[in-house]
Order: sequence, then structure tokens, then C-alpha cells
Amino acid sequence: MKKNDIVKLHIDTVSSDGSGVGRVENMVVFTPMSCAGDTIEAHILKVKKTYAFAKVHRILTPSPDRVEADCPVYAQCGGCAFRHMRYEAELAQKQKMVDDALARIGGLNLKTEGILSLPPERYRNKAQYPIREENGKIVAGFFARHSHRVVACEDCFLEPEVFGKILEAVIYFLEQNHIAAYNEITHTGLLRHVFLRCTAGAEHIALCLVLNGKNLPREDAFIRFITGIFPQIKSIVINSNTKKTNVILGEKFLTVYGADEMEDALRGKKFMISAASFYQVNHDMCEKLYQKAGEYAALREGETLLDLYCGAGTIGICTAGENTRLIGVEVIPEAVENARKNAALNGMQKARFICADAAAATRILREEGIHADCVIIDPPRKGCDEKTIDNIISFGASRLVYVSCNPATLARDLKLFESKGYKAVRACAADMFPRTAHVETVVLLSHKKPDGHINVKVEFGEGEGKVPLDNIAKRAEEYKPKERVTYKMIKEYIEAKYGFKVHTAYIAEVKRDLGLHTFFLQLR
Ligand code: SAH
Repeated sequence: MKKNDIVKLHIDTVSSDGSGVGRVENMVVFTPMSCAGDTIEAHILKVKKTYAFAKVHRILTPSPDRVEADCPVYAQCGGCAFRHMRYEAELAQKQKMVDDALARIGGLNLKTEGILSLPPERYRNKAQYPIREENGKIVAGFFARHSHRVVACEDCFLEPEVFGKILEAVIYFLEQNHIAAYNEITHTGLLRHVFLRCTAGAEHIALCLVLNGKNLPREDAFIRFITGIFPQIKSIVINSNTKKTNVILGEKFLTVYGADEMEDALRGKKFMISAASFYQVNHDMCEKLYQKAGEYAALREGETLLDLYCGAGTIGICTAGENTRLIGVEVIPEAVENARKNAALNGMQKARFICADAAAATRILREEGIHADCVIIDPPRKGCDEKTIDNIISFGASRLVYVSCNPATLARDLKLFESKGYKAVRACAADMFPRTAHVETVVLLSHKKPDGHINVKVEFGEGEGKVPLDNIAKRAEEYKPKERVTYKMIKEYIEAKYGFKVHTAYIAEVKRDLGLHTFFLQLR
């Protein structure tokens, strides 16, 4: 097989990035915009040792799932992956993607109980359009597949119609005022991205201009112009990003018109969201996802809920009851500020939010001896790191709810949790990003029940004799240890003495049951 060959290919399945997968001569061939069940002629574009990439040259026999793609820029734009497929087939495909990852990467004997979904059009409440210049004209739209070429798009069917109109007006203003679009190669020009966000129903819109500089020339005129046409724009923010980077947003935000934050509602609660804060892009599906996360969390009166990677605090606040002790962790300061305000807005005066990396924050909480009944974990695509996972385990929670936008890292992390004393017991997929290749998953992990019991005699102090168990917590506080006993030491001790391994989670549970903050005990 070589580049530019035309080969006959039957598509058997769909890969995690949405490409159709078929086999020819022991080679696996990935072809975007093909459907499981298609027989096609594939035009080979790139050949590797055991696999190749191709594009559809001709469809010989279409799959029964195939439909005519409705978007004029579908073939060029890198946003959607499944517009050529019936939506029901897309849902089945995505559920299978999650099940496959759980089995193959996670080695888990767990299947999703279903895939949550809603009608798939115009669901996004957020858009980030790159602005570039081509042949003397400003183009705005989306990056092409695997490229930084901008494909112009007047109206994206995933977004509210008004977004395309605002974009057109912004470009008109740039052209009239000779304001240059950003050029990635020469790192010149001013406007890099137009970032739009809206409330449910697009009643309120927040506009953020990402500049390769600090100020927009004729800023006042721009504000009058754009809010004159679109009175629903309630906030205009300038974000300054002067770095040579693919990252869209810079660190500095300046509100030049209206409010710093946009107000939205989720599951009957109010939320203030800054431009710097993460906010779920599909509002109605987000409510469904949070409902499922809440069902899995099954919080009881007075329990402690830890919401890791909490963004503006949304999942935790939607899930918590009146008497829940809520602790959130998030690394972006503006999001933490939102989360604190949001908790107060929703009557949760006692909620606590820590602004730190998840590994550092969980270490602090662990050192404080915090016990959690339930931990919600909603990390970015790269998932959790092992340190954070170990810290989470030490909280001794009876259930963990893992929300993930990447089935591969989710499965990898679940495998680790399973090796450390938890069991993934329920999973549900959620189509948060219809028509794209992305899929969300929520998983419930439950603390494994021990197979049996051993009695370990615990003694405190040096030469003080034995202390009855019910006095342990009190004596532990009085006792000043020379050296802390670590989980590792306890595991090694039990293994040496009793000949079997114990999980960190069991030790954490014993520690909690005894009311100990730190292990001061001596192992004999
Ligand atoms: N639970 C929230 C946000 C989920 S997105 C919601 O449903 O809206 C993931 C969040 O993790 C983002 O807000 C991101 O800023 C934050 N984050 C990314 N890396 C982090 C880290 N190392 N430690 C803590 N938070 C992190």
C-alpha cells in the first residue's frame, strides 16, 4: 500500500476520533466521514507501518446509517465528525466507544447503562472563532481538520444563529476601521479570536475579544456599534494574549462594558460565570449529566462532598443538599471566585473552596485529616495524576463519582482506582457534544467490601501499656510522635505479619472509624 492508492475498503467500526476503520492487507485504514457498514473506495493519504490514513474517494455501498450531511463546510471544518450518520447511529457508536475504552484500556467488566441525549442541533452556548486574513480579506470560522487554516463559516448548526451574525458584525467593524486580523506566522495583527458565550436561550450574551495587544482601537465606537445591533450583549471583555501560543486565552481580562460575569441557571440554581472560568458548553445536557452525577452521589443529610476540578462550583452546588458540607477544589482563581459567590448566592454559606492544583489541594485536605463521604472528580481531558488519586483514596469516601470528557484517560484512572480498593459499579455515557467525536461519561465507584477480617492489636505510647480502643482517639491527640507512620509502612507491616496486602482505602477507613487525623500508632 502506498500514498495515492485507491483501495476497496469495508468499514467495520469507528475509532475514538470518529474515523471509520477498515482493514486491507493486514493494514488498518482510518477514513474520516465513513460509517460502519459502508463499502468505499478509499484514497490513501499517508502510510505508516501497520496503519494508514485515507479519505473517501467513492461510496460503493452505503451503510444503512448513512445520511446526507447538511452542513456546507462539513468536509473542510474540523468541528463535526458524525454529520453523515443518523443521530441514533452516532449515539450507539459513542456508547460503544466508551464501553470499548472501559474494557480495553481499563480492563473493567463494566458496561454503560445507556447514553443520555437530547436533540442535537444548536446546543452550544460557547464559541471561539479564530480570526485570520487570507488574500487580503478577513476570515473567521473554524480551524480545518488537523490544521490551522481557517474555514469560514457563516452559520454553524451547533451554535445559536445569532453567534454567526455577531461574528459578521465584528469583522465589518475591523474592516471599516482597518484593524488587522492576527497572523500566526509573523505574530502580527491584533484580533486573534472572538469568544462568545450565552445564557440558555441566548437571552444574554458575553463577548470577549482576544487581542495580540492591550487595547482595541476605537473601543467606545465598537461598544456602541455592537450593542446597538445586539442589545442582548450584556458584557464585553478584552483578553490580552501576546504570546506565540496555540492557547486561545491569555491571562489578563479587562471588562470594558457591562458585567464581569454572565448569570445563568442550572437545575434551579443561579451561577455567575467569568470569561476565564470553565462552563459546560451544552446547557440542557449539562443538567442531565449533573442529575445523573447526583443520582450516583446519593448524598445523605450532613455528609461531606468533595468537588474536585470544580470550575465555578456548578456540579457540587447542584448536587449538595441543605446540610451538605461542600469542599471544592479548582486551579483557576477567577473560577474559584465565581464558585464562592455561587455558593453564597445559593444559600450555602459554609461551603469552602480551595484555589490550587488538585494534587496540592488534596494533600492539604489529607493533612487536615478531612474525611469525605463522596468525592466528585471532573478533570480535564488528561485525567487525574496518580498522586491526586492516592490522596483521594485517603479521604475514605464510600463512593466516588468520576465525570470525564475523555474515555481513554477515564478508563486508565478507573483501573488505578480499582487496584487501590474501589470498584467501578455503574457507568453512563452522555452525548454532551452531538455531531462531534467527543463523548462524556459518568462513573460511580464504590468502596470494595472486605472479603474477611483480621484483628490487629493497636497500642499507643512508649512504655505506657495498652490503651483500650475507645480511648484511642483521645490518647492519639495527646501523644506526640517522633515519626509519622505512613500508609506504605502499614501496608508493609500487615503484609509481613499476616501475609496479605491491604488497600490504602481500607486503612483510610479504619483511620476514620477511629477518629484519627494522623497515624500515631506503633505497630508491634
Ligand atoms: N466541574 C466543572 C468543571 C469541569 S472542567 C463543571 O462541571 O463545570 C475541569 C476543571 O478543572 C476546569 O475548571 C479547570 O480549570 C480545572 N483544572 C484543570 N487542571 C486542574 C488541576 N491540575 N487542578 C485543579 N483544577 C484543575
